[in-house]
Amino acid sequence: MTIGEIKALIRDVPDFPKPGILFKDITPVLQNAEAYRFLIDEMSSALDSIEFNKIAGIESRGFVFGAPIAYKLGKGFIMLRKKGKLPYIKESECYDLEYGVDCIEVHVDSVEPGESVIIVDDVLATGGTALHAAKLIEKIGGKVAGFLFFVELEFLNGREKLKDYNVISMVRF
Ligand code: AMP
Repeated sequence: MTIGEIKALIRDVPDFPKPGILFKDITPVLQNAEAYRFLIDEMSSALDSIEFNKIAGIESRGFVFGAPIAYKLGKGFIMLRKKGKLPYIKESECYDLEYGVDCIEVHVDSVEPGESVIIVDDVLATGGTALHAAKLIEKIGGKVAGFLFFVELEFLNGREKLKDYNVISMVRF
């Protein structure tokens, strides 16, 4: 298996979830046992030179990558969830979308003071979600050691929005 073969498995779905968006569908990668394992191994290795304490996944596709990487590297896993899902004391970060507002939440005891976190998601698009995920980790006293994405959509310049952080992606379009 190669990362090029993994990239070839990503399916383009035009006009989803609305007209004009070319959706990068990663489900064919997940369905392929060899591809999924290879990708998790490669994403884990990409963190070799970074020191950090925990992995945070952004709901829900960030969980699909973040949790197995945390398991493989022996790190704790933090769920950054959509509003209203977490039961305990939490912190929120809300941000404007094209239509309306979206919020992500985290339990306040997810990090010890000063712990550093790698934030994982499937796709880096405009970077809005990722930036607010970083703010959320910082609100509860954590440090962001970097971001790890499976796919980066370079033409949307998400990396620019995350310029204060270390950003790693496995495949780029
Ligand atoms: P962003 O614009 O970076 O805030 O993207 C928010 C979320 O939407 C990311 O977590 C991606 O999972 C998802 N997303 C945005 N654009 C796409 C796309 N073209 N294909 C697949 N997923 C996308």
